[in-house]
Amino acid sequence: SKLNGDHIKLAIQKDGRLTEDTRNLLRTVGLHFESYKQRLFSICRNFPMDILYVRDDDIAEYVAEGIVDLGIVGRNLVVESEKPVEEILPLNYGHCSLKVAVPAESGITSIEQLSGCNVATSYPVTTSRFFAERDIDVNVITISGSVEITPALGVATAIVDLVSTGSSLRLNDLVAIDNVLDSQSTIIGNRTSLADKQKAIIIERLLTRFRGVMAASE
Ligand code: ATP
Ligand code: ZN
Repeated sequence: SKLNGDHIKLAIQKDGRLTEDTRNLLRTVGLHFESYKQRLFSICRNFPMDILYVRDDDIAEYVAEGIVDLGIVGRNLVVESEKPVEEILPLNYGHCSLKVAVPAESGITSIEQLSGCNVATSYPVTTSRFFAERDIDVNVITISGSVEITPALGVATAIVDLVSTGSSLRLNDLVAIDNVLDSQSTIIGNRTSLADKQKAIIIERLLTRFRGVMAASE
């Protein structure tokens, strides 16, 4: 099987925190598709859509470039990517917040106290903007993973990291002192696809199903 040119394309996370809930939601809205771990894409059997499995970091760019028409991704990555995509519908799972956190024993209680300090994060764009908007001059250090260990290593005074339950902060003796962004899994779209008459009809049929399921679960 191969990708179909007449189908719309949806990118979802291949293997991560959003994958299972996203697949379940696609099945709940009535889409039939097979998915195997090794697969790069699936073709829906009962809807003119192909599903692409990608790294979540690439989804906003794929949508913005028109490689796919729609994507499902955490809002945190949409904001960080600064790509011109439409946030169409929040999906009420994958809830998390990007928070500023410091070691509990640091005595730091406000972000103003971080002036002149190193702040480690995997979200440098969002973090830099957050501090710049508040006129706090920090040195943002970009780390791709395990950001929460950087204060203990002496690399950073504070971190900006995703928090859901807070267990990872507690495990590392960190406390949150401010909130940068609230996030959840979101359907995003490409403006050109949304303006394409034929695609818009298919996309609207799909979104109607999503809205119905979201309304029923409220
Ligand atoms: P990929 O391999 O696709 O790049 P990843 O490791 O970067 O995956 P995950 O850890 O699977 O990403 O997280 C995917 C998304 O889940 C995040 O971008 C965020 O929107 C959401 N999320 C919800 N809770 C959390 C949390 N506690 N920590 C991190 N992400 C969370
Ligand atoms: Zn990722």
